[in-house]
Amino acid sequence: MTPKVSKIGVLCSGGDSPGMNAGIRAVVRTGLYYGLEVFGIMRGYTGMIEDDIFQMDNRSVANIIQRGGTILKTARSAEFMTYEGRKKAYDNLKKRGINGLVILGGDGSFRGAQAFSNDFDIPCIGLPGTIDRDIAGTDFTIGFDTAVNTAVEAIDKIRDTADAHDRLFIIEVMGRDAGYIALHSGISTGAENILIPERKTDIENLVASLQEKERRKKLVNLIIVAEGEKGGAEYIEQVIKERIPGLDTRVCILGHIQRGGAPTCMDRVMASRMGYHAIECLMEGRHNVFVGVLQNRMNYTPLSEAVKKKQRISEEWMKIVRILSS
Ligand code: ADP
Repeated sequence: MTPKVSKIGVLCSGGDSPGMNAGIRAVVRTGLYYGLEVFGIMRGYTGMIEDDIFQMDNRSVANIIQRGGTILKTARSAEFMTYEGRKKAYDNLKKRGINGLVILGGDGSFRGAQAFSNDFDIPCIGLPGTIDRDIAGTDFTIGFDTAVNTAVEAIDKIRDTADAHDRLFIIEVMGRDAGYIALHSGISTGAENILIPERKTDIENLVASLQEKERRKKLVNLIIVAEGEKGGAEYIEQVIKERIPGLDTRVCILGHIQRGGAPTCMDRVMASRMGYHAIECLMEGRHNVFVGVLQNRMNYTPLSEAVKKKQRISEEWMKIVRILSS
């Protein structure tokens, strides 16, 4: 039988996302409330392997809820993919008596946690921290709301300059495998077209719709492209320039600003709630799951089932985009 959890470690792994600090704070303070000793592990699984671990108290997480990034830093670790690497990490936890882990990260980090808890008897709880919102088993991931609001703010600004010059802007947002940021930011900024990896782009259709708008003298156009879309914004611009040479086009790649900045209220609340429930899970013996929220209820998915969620975009969504941007 797994011994009762008394000392826990908390770490961030993989891509960072705004709101991770709020999650760390909730884990630390809830853990201490229940009488656990809490240790911070620096730079994800790398810090576990390199023994970069320190004890945390209530003050360690003071004044961080409003900050982007993560005070524990994050990293990717090739060594943790091997049994030998995980064994080193385990030995470092063992010598401190750490017998529970909370991992903030994406589906890759959850797969790492699953491998670790299979090898060694250390219960792991995941918190979904990713701006991409692409993990099955939760309607929210920590960081998505902030990232999408950052994109919206930037796109609104681009619209002003697009309007001043009657230009077409092709704006690339993050989302290598998932078009959630593109879809949400595109709808909320009135973009004419939204191109996402989950849906094959019909270039002919896109060109025809731009030509039709040109005829109607609708000159301000925004096309939002998810980075995972074949060739990204630069490829789309190249095609449009060839097919409609008269159109004044510009590309803007929003890039890493979408990962940073103060988390929104939504991300802070979500991370706080999930962090609290991570400790509840450990206390109740609900192990090796990640905490999600589905239809406003807490939902626990086994780490072994942590997979990327493929988005299904209904025709209706695309119809809404077309009608509202006409
Ligand atoms: P994310 O969590 O953002 O999806 P990654 O996919 O890069 O990020 O995963 C983060 C880290 O998790 C990897 O660098 C690796 O250390 C660990 N990891 C991922 N998959 C596995 C696996 N199958 N076995 C062990 N560790 C893994």
